[in-house]
Amino acid sequence: MINLNKARTKMPEQDPRARIRNFDEVAAGYTEEMAVREALRCLKCREHPCMTSGCPIHNNIPAFIEKITEGEFEAAYQILTETTSLPAVCGRVCPQYLQCEGKCVRGEKGRPVAIGALERFVADWHRHHAAEETEGAPGAASEGIEGTADKAVTDAKNSIKTAVIGSGPAGLACAGVLAEKGYAVTLFEKEEIAGGVLAYGIPKFRLPAEILEKELDSLVAAGVQIETGKELGKDFTLADLEARGFRGIFIGNGAGESMRLGIPGQELEGVLPAAAFLYDVNCRGIFPDAEHIAVIGGGNVAMDACRAAVRCPSAKKVTVVYRRSVAEMPADPAELAEAKAEGVEFLFLTAPVKVVGENGKVQGLQCQKMELTEPDASGRRKPVPVPGSEFVLDTDCIIEAIGSRSDNSCVDGVDTTDRGLIVTDPETGATTRPGVYAGGDTVTGPKTVIAAMGAGRKAAEAMDAYLGK
Ligand code: SF4
Ligand code: SF4
Repeated sequence: MINLNKARTKMPEQDPRARIRNFDEVAAGYTEEMAVREALRCLKCREHPCMTSGCPIHNNIPAFIEKITEGEFEAAYQILTETTSLPAVCGRVCPQYLQCEGKCVRGEKGRPVAIGALERFVADWHRHHAAEETEGAPGAASEGIEGTADKAVTDAKNSIKTAVIGSGPAGLACAGVLAEKGYAVTLFEKEEIAGGVLAYGIPKFRLPAEILEKELDSLVAAGVQIETGKELGKDFTLADLEARGFRGIFIGNGAGESMRLGIPGQELEGVLPAAAFLYDVNCRGIFPDAEHIAVIGGGNVAMDACRAAVRCPSAKKVTVVYRRSVAEMPADPAELAEAKAEGVEFLFLTAPVKVVGENGKVQGLQCQKMELTEPDASGRRKPVPVPGSEFVLDTDCIIEAIGSRSDNSCVDGVDTTDRGLIVTDPETGATTRPGVYAGGDTVTGPKTVIAAMGAGRKAAEAMDAYLGK
């Protein structure tokens, strides 16, 4: 029996006034009854565009949703994991409005089926119900990684050593598939905490730490050796890995370098790249001692930054400064709505011109109002300054969230583009160095978690073929 309700089943969430005082997850997730009710909104379309043209990795959406309607939650999980390595993560952080839900037929006359929320439900259900089985599994991540260098090799079904560089979504997905296929996998992470952007870039109120910890635990249980604090180009090179007997190498080192504003005063104390701000807040519990925080940018990183900023203990006001209008904002509309509900203020059609400071510290941000030109040939409207419209925004901390890029100067013997991205065969992820593969943001520039994960899985399959299993 199809649920014909045009509205979707609402997920319970923390009240905005309460949640800005904590970093607990905002949305509580569906109960079993809610999940079944929402799953019954799926029409099981013959063409299922959600799956064929919406989800980048073609999760079998109608099939897993049908299992939910039957109360077969573990079966739904098994269907999902045929194509995805991180359903609990993707269900939370995928931009579903642009992908699966953006193509859902129910969205034509109402709200699309809440595919992301259902994926999250299934993954969480599995995690809670499979907990007893995995508890006490050998090599739990909390046991630490020192002194276990040969463990992956002895646990693996074969002795072919593979290395994965970077423990973000591309690296995790690649390591998972390689381990499943029986390779000895060592995962190198330059930070002290594994998880890449999932650990330090996405705030805990969107992706709780326990979700990532479970993913890492299951990789370790599958025999993957994780070495944190090991940076390519500083602690080792590709040639070193080859000399150590690694026959297949995957590079998934992301695009973690924040772009800078390039305006006078950006060197002042109190100007923070978004990546550094989010790392401190997420991984170290360190907050800027600031009352009025300005966030520059209009993308999802700006939304994560402003929503983390309102939770900073000293923050009294948080303002997002974006040079185009709300209609051009690339951020997920749901994130924008959450930020507004949490009290973040927005200055649209406003561009930063200069950081104002005193005694080496930020005191304000000189801004200029902008207006949009008529659409050009590509349909894009360009922001241009409104003469005589400059003003100073009172702020003592400025977070730059205007984009990021890869730094592959650390990668030896692999061709890169003039933008510093690693050159690969799009079908396999193979780089110009034999046996070395790459995928995710380091190849494409900043994209989504799911795109990086898909690239990691694809490269693992190609590595398997290359290594001759
Ligand atoms: Fe949607 Fe992302 Fe899941 Fe694909 S992986 S079905 S895009 S939430
Ligand atoms: Fe179900 Fe929407 Fe996919 Fe149709 S497009 S199968 S309604 S989720």
